[in-house]
Amino acid sequence: MTKFTDLGLSPKVLKAVNDVGYETPTPIQEAAIPHALAGRDVLGIAQTGTGKTAGFTLPMIHKLARGRARARMPRSLVLAPTRELAAQVAENFELYSKYVKLDMALLIGGVSFKDQDKLIDRGVDVLIATPGRLLDHFERGKLLLTGIEIMVVDEADRMLDMGFIPDIERIFKLTPFTRQTLFFSATMAPEITRITQEFLSNPERVEVSRQATTSDTIEQKVVSVKAQNRKVEAKAKRDMLRKVIADEGDALTNAIIFCNRKVDVDIVLKSMKKYGASVGALHGDLDQRYRMEVLNGFKNNDITLLVASDVAARGLDIPNVSHVFNYDVPIHSEDYVHRVGRTGRAGRSGKAFTLCLPHEEKYLDKIEELIKGKIPRTEITASEPSKPTETHSRSRSKAIKPDAPKVEAAKKEDVVESKRETQVAEVRKLARNDKNQRPQKEGGRKQGNHNRVVGLGDHVPAFMLRDIRTTAAPKTEEPVAEEAKSDDENAA
Ligand code: AMP
Repeated sequence: MTKFTDLGLSPKVLKAVNDVGYETPTPIQEAAIPHALAGRDVLGIAQTGTGKTAGFTLPMIHKLARGRARARMPRSLVLAPTRELAAQVAENFELYSKYVKLDMALLIGGVSFKDQDKLIDRGVDVLIATPGRLLDHFERGKLLLTGIEIMVVDEADRMLDMGFIPDIERIFKLTPFTRQTLFFSATMAPEITRITQEFLSNPERVEVSRQATTSDTIEQKVVSVKAQNRKVEAKAKRDMLRKVIADEGDALTNAIIFCNRKVDVDIVLKSMKKYGASVGALHGDLDQRYRMEVLNGFKNNDITLLVASDVAARGLDIPNVSHVFNYDVPIHSEDYVHRVGRTGRAGRSGKAFTLCLPHEEKYLDKIEELIKGKIPRTEITASEPSKPTETHSRSRSKAIKPDAPKVEAAKKEDVVESKRETQVAEVRKLARNDKNQRPQKEGGRKQGNHNRVVGLGDHVPAFMLRDIRTTAAPKTEEPVAEEAKSDDENAA
């Protein structure tokens, strides 16, 4: 079995890895790190959860330990599709570079340019950015990319989904051709292959097979939801959700509730809140500061239930989630694997419940085809709407704002992020419908630069939390409130 010490990493990097407690490298680390250290371009085909972040951060830290950063000329660049993933990469850098002095800046939307400018002005070894914010800095003349020695593109397939490929191409062209490139993608769509052929130099291809199965440690169930007519379907689902949560009792320590649409995230949030649950929400329309609070609250067990959209929750590394609830059956089968994979991590046990209306059965069939197995059905009668148990309603030390503030309309980046979240589904559909075309290219062009996704905030490292300027929008009246109110009235 390969050990970290066999990979060629410096003692300082190895010491940090040892402190984190990793015993052996994951397959992608084992395959990618030696090539990256040897200066080769790497094309890594792997998705989140495989340990790929350490796969590129460890060799980068090793290599960047020598040399010094110059003002406004970062030495390395990591591009991630969303804020939350960029922040996660930054967190990894902090963790693994504790014995090596490296300056880092995280350029993501929702945070003031001024603080980011200051860092860049001083000179950084590592720049971690979402493509939109990076180009904004570049266009403002605050940044030069001609000193980039190593460039990483993380989650390229999601960049494609989000229409970022033109931005990525532009960024590649702004960096010197002598750079080393580490490029990661879960899938190799034709557009991605084209980019790698154009910008990578004789890359070493390393591949970790795509996860198309769910872990054995996750107990999965489908809960059939029946409603008298389409109008009351949503309410039937909310009743059922509360019933299932209540039935789980203290076995449920924390859970993520996935909805297919942002509007349903809002509705479920309000509904759960009305019933006294300790709950927060994550989707692209929500104010960045709120998202940070919610995620940190969820990680710290200050809140128990997280209602989220797929885009918001992708790539989040939250250990110890006891339950996942699919409020909707995901339309894309891979999303099911991803959602369910939020629980039962690292060999722990977990439970995943999928609420299914009759018209959603067709999506379930596709999921079962993908995971090559039947998900057991369970009949639960949603009698009286249930109240959450004490565990589910606890709200500990840190109070999360009672309402989920939406982004201000004036904040360009946040607004486009929200739009993009809606577009992602459409673009994906296009891509699936016409495999012979290059739908994403079209999607990317059509959306243009001003429609950049800025992603979502996951855990943000301490240095990012200094003096952040975000303005929570005043609470707006939404139809959501009405929907949740009707739940309340019914319960009364
Ligand atoms: P990633 O795919 O980079 O998002 O990593 C997924 C999870 O695996 C993170 O929680 C990492 O901390 C963890 N991880 C990364 N490398 C290792 C390793 N060699 N051994 C154990 N856990 C790891």
